[in-house]
Amino acid sequence: MSEDTILRETQETQETQETQETQEPQADQATRGTEPSAQAEKREFQTEIRQLLDIVIHSLYTNKEIFLRELISNAADACEKIRYLALIGEEIRGGGESHDLGIKITVDDKANTLTISDNGIGMTREELIENLGTIAHSGSKSFLSYLAEHRDQAPDLSLIGQFGVGFYSAFMVAQKVVIQTLSGDPEAEACCWISEGLGSYTLGTGTRQERGTSIEIWLKEDAAHLASAESIKLIINKYSNFVPYPVSVNDEKINTVEAIWVKNRKEVTDEEYAEFYKFFAGAYDEPIARLHFSSDAPLSLQALLFVPGSNMERFGFNRTERGVNLFCKKVLIQEKCENILPEWLRFVRGIVDCEDLPLNISRETLQDSALLQKLNRMVTSRLLKFWEELARDDSKKYEAFWQEFGVFLKEGAATDFVNRQELLKLLRFESSMTDPGELTGLDEYIDRMPDSQKAIYFASGPNREGIEQGPYLEIFRESHYEVLYTYQTIDDYVLLNIGSYKEKPLLSVDQENEEMPDLDATNPPRMEEAKADQLVDWLKEVLKDKVKEVRVSKRLVESPAVLLSVGTSHSMSRLYQSMSEVAGLPGNAFNDVLEINTNHEVLQGIDRLRIDEDPFARTAAEQLLIAAQMAAGLSVDPRLLVTGLNELLAKALSN
Ligand code: ADP
Ligand code: MG
Repeated sequence: MSEDTILRETQETQETQETQETQEPQADQATRGTEPSAQAEKREFQTEIRQLLDIVIHSLYTNKEIFLRELISNAADACEKIRYLALIGEEIRGGGESHDLGIKITVDDKANTLTISDNGIGMTREELIENLGTIAHSGSKSFLSYLAEHRDQAPDLSLIGQFGVGFYSAFMVAQKVVIQTLSGDPEAEACCWISEGLGSYTLGTGTRQERGTSIEIWLKEDAAHLASAESIKLIINKYSNFVPYPVSVNDEKINTVEAIWVKNRKEVTDEEYAEFYKFFAGAYDEPIARLHFSSDAPLSLQALLFVPGSNMERFGFNRTERGVNLFCKKVLIQEKCENILPEWLRFVRGIVDCEDLPLNISRETLQDSALLQKLNRMVTSRLLKFWEELARDDSKKYEAFWQEFGVFLKEGAATDFVNRQELLKLLRFESSMTDPGELTGLDEYIDRMPDSQKAIYFASGPNREGIEQGPYLEIFRESHYEVLYTYQTIDDYVLLNIGSYKEKPLLSVDQENEEMPDLDATNPPRMEEAKADQLVDWLKEVLKDKVKEVRVSKRLVESPAVLLSVGTSHSMSRLYQSMSEVAGLPGNAFNDVLEINTNHEVLQGIDRLRIDEDPFARTAAEQLLIAAQMAAGLSVDPRLLVTGLNELLAKALSN
């Protein structure tokens, strides 16, 4: 029986139950019914799906036509799945020869219906329940949170497919959806799923006799214009030109099936690439960058990879799913392949086609295949080289990429030891020598280093102003050493963990370290050494429970004191401290070094009070430490601060 006959039959038999047995064509529209069968069972959608449907149905979103892209891409996915199963020799209903697979769309402008039918993998009853109606399977939660986040700016519903809930977009245009499906599993029975999108669906015995799925859309009144072959063809041209299976509309074949990744780069236009990306990644945005390359050694491969327009992890709670499909000679081996790229490259979308893979490789074998590791290394280093070239040749474009996806590269630098050196070249920061908002890399930084400078310095803080205030940068301004600014904890984590780049130590400016510049030449301490020693000893005694060490600083110009962190940066010790609080371990608070500026009038004043044995010397010393702790971004006990401050005020006002 041809797909055609099936189509007509499924359409008509589900319309009226009486015709189910006879399967006679039934033209009388008046007899159309909605009950799937006598054994039909009504089931509720899960909560998130209900909320999602409510939004989809009631939105005034204008770009409703994208529903067709979603249904066609599902149909194409279903064909890919059956092709794969056939490839690895699974027993399936109806065979999986790729030339037999395809998608047929029928438009009935009298009945106001539209049917998208495929002969792909189909669904069993359990799969229908699991895939269409259950939250566990879908990104409905993330999509809802994306919608909530964009409530004020008219959210882009066409992103729905990216969240893995594309099917529900059908309800933008449908008052009712009827699915007839027969799974490729030889044991399965035909099923029928019907819903008006209002909280529940009915599940019953289906009428489909050939493997596959047809989805019949009963168009809403305001979508009636879609019941025309012409408008459907236009929509397909716009969104679904690159479906890798033939698509026909009322029996007219319309798309060109192309594996553009195996073509020569010169033969593909920018528009074709962008369209391919949108279809393939189910995306609506323009890719930020693309890389199309082939290689002959050590493996023979062709790859077409895209960096999406936006970082989806910012919208949802979930990690971005892998987005690279593995092919062998244009045959899909594995979708969303886990091992083809390291975890931190999960945002990359595209295709890797490798001739050297055995076609019938199983998923288990794929997991630990040495071949795949080799492939992973090849593709990853090519991507890293691509970004390095992009940064060199088109820094604006690179920075746009960095703003959106830099966080993944940082994750890579922290976790991917194999590619770390290459990744370090790609990191970007603001610095004391860039204008606000302008970025620099480690290599440029090294090029600017004066001969006397031995290390790479960075300072962390919530923003530029926060970093530039306070005692830490004084010495660097004085010595004209550049300081990188880091605004996120992950930056410090990465830089401290790496330890050095091109043999230059990476140091946080608040770290206690010998490689710090000092002022000995330009601004040596003026207080006599013996006197300073006494002051230091006294301070050590007064602050002995609060700091590890007190010493005369060689780095302070304007500030009276600075607190240095031993072995790590303050932002990291803050992080460790909060982690140890969570874990119930003792914190590491007293591991700091207080450096004092004996040229500063505050220290000279404290010294006078100390010699006079004035009890106020203690208060002043404690306040000095509290101020230094605050400048270090550490949390201080507000009660201590307030008591000390009041004492200071009383003292100042009584004079
Ligand atoms: P996604 O395609 O991202 O998984 P959808 O909401 O579009 O999300 O589809 C949900 C699931 O329903 C699919 O993953 C698939 O398992 C199933 N499905 C949808 N359409 C079809 C179809 N035509 N044939 C077989 N399965 C389908
Ligand atoms: Mg889909």
